[in-house]
Amino acid sequence: MQLGGGDMKMKQTKYIFVTGGVLSGVGKGISAASIGAVLKARGLNVNIQKCDQYLNVDAGTLNPAEHGECFVTNDGAETDLDLGHYERFLDTDLTSSSSVMSGRVLRQVIDDERAGKYLGKTVQIVPHVITAMQEHIENAAKGFDVHIVEVGGTVGDIEGQSWIEAIRELGFRLGYRNCAYVHVVYLPYLGASKEFKTKPAQNAVKDLRNAGISPNVILARSESVAPDSIKNKLSLYGGVPHEAIGLLPNAKSIYEVPLSIANQKIDEYIVQHLEIKTKKPNLKQWKQLNKTISEDRSQSVKIGIVAKYLDNEDTYFSVIEALRASCWSQKTNLEFDWVNAEKVEKDGVQILEKYDGILVPGGFGSRGVEGMIMAAGYCLETGKSYLGLCLGLQVAVIAGARRGGLKDATSAEIHPSSKKSVIYIMSDQKGKEETGGTMRLGEYKASLVPKSKVAELYKNTKVTERHRHRYEVNLKFRKQIEKGGLVISGQSPDGTLVEFIEAQNHNFFVATQAHPEFKSRPTSPHPLFVGFIKSLKNK
Ligand code: GLN
Repeated sequence: MQLGGGDMKMKQTKYIFVTGGVLSGVGKGISAASIGAVLKARGLNVNIQKCDQYLNVDAGTLNPAEHGECFVTNDGAETDLDLGHYERFLDTDLTSSSSVMSGRVLRQVIDDERAGKYLGKTVQIVPHVITAMQEHIENAAKGFDVHIVEVGGTVGDIEGQSWIEAIRELGFRLGYRNCAYVHVVYLPYLGASKEFKTKPAQNAVKDLRNAGISPNVILARSESVAPDSIKNKLSLYGGVPHEAIGLLPNAKSIYEVPLSIANQKIDEYIVQHLEIKTKKPNLKQWKQLNKTISEDRSQSVKIGIVAKYLDNEDTYFSVIEALRASCWSQKTNLEFDWVNAEKVEKDGVQILEKYDGILVPGGFGSRGVEGMIMAAGYCLETGKSYLGLCLGLQVAVIAGARRGGLKDATSAEIHPSSKKSVIYIMSDQKGKEETGGTMRLGEYKASLVPKSKVAELYKNTKVTERHRHRYEVNLKFRKQIEKGGLVISGQSPDGTLVEFIEAQNHNFFVATQAHPEFKSRPTSPHPLFVGFIKSLKNK
């Protein structure tokens, strides 16, 4: 083994490992994404990856109410919502290699054991699982200048130990100048004594050291702005130089964080440590975005999001980001309420009257669906703007079919044995309803009807969007659906699957079987969302 070496013929990828201490949920993902964004602004070719400690194989089976949004990549991986931050901050399309959960690694090791690949050896966490983890990291890093690895959870968690050991060993093998460890900690503020406390952060650094890793950079998150003097303590007790400490108070917008990292020259410290020769970051785009975000806007649009997973606002993170970005582009303020779909069912559609437009996002199962159908039907009837995403298309089709005379129109997801399932299960999905990784996932092409609303919005008749669903429009009921005022405006190229529908003679009634929110970016908002927002402004 050659320390600090590597293959001389190949460019040495530099690694940045981002870990967390004190508590989870303080924005480690945003911090990692922001470092990536600033390094990209320096002209570096950056990749980024999330390594999670869960024994799930992927995020597809995780309950969104508990875990937040399940983000889908082009290649169909069901991932943690941090991948969404990464794609939006780095303005790049990631792949399944950017999201690795312990379960995926363990399954692979156990499969290899069954296949006899370990040749009679005892199979153990160290070295076998750790080595497999390192392979995931190094494979994802290939060909990039910098590879950022965010390790999920907080250091010290029993279940995260393997990943921490994997990145420790990797750092030892790759050498001091090829790896930077960034530890994201939290600074609580004590109201009674009016001071920020560093003790939890100190202990968090100690936890990392106990695992054999000394941080190179400490990022300290806090609710409000901590005094610069706090860096003295963090530096002394955390064992990193003053200039390697970044203070990250809550920002008005998450898109300020890259600028905050750059202002504190954290990126500069990292590239110097890693001995990367780069130009200064070109932050023009980030400055422009933040200027746009903070501009005074006199106009507002008010949207009701009729959904069912309302306990956790992270469930629809990409939807909200797509709405926000579209509003910035249209110079309008976004106001939105979460409207419980079951409440619509109970209290009636009049609770939707106060909104300029209604959005129904994705969802699973039967709870709340009737309320969503009512919301879609109400918009179809009254001309109120409607944007439907995945389940939002399915409920709109049911509402259309009912309006077209098929009174009991339903979805097989709600009534599996109904003969009036205008939404039915795709033939290759039958029997897989409870299984992971089996939905229609990832990018698929669609052909749009020329001159349709969607073709006009996309400015194209050939589009690709990301998918995550099992159910589908049943074209047997096309007549009734169309009689209800809807047209099928986009289909799979072979004409078998419905991808887009819209209403004729309507202000804006558009729905897609896909999840366009995953492709929206802060500086290039998705055309369907932009069209929706424009329709609310012009009403
Ligand atoms: N539950 C529906 C399906 O499986 C919709 C899925 C979704 O909204 N992502 O087809």
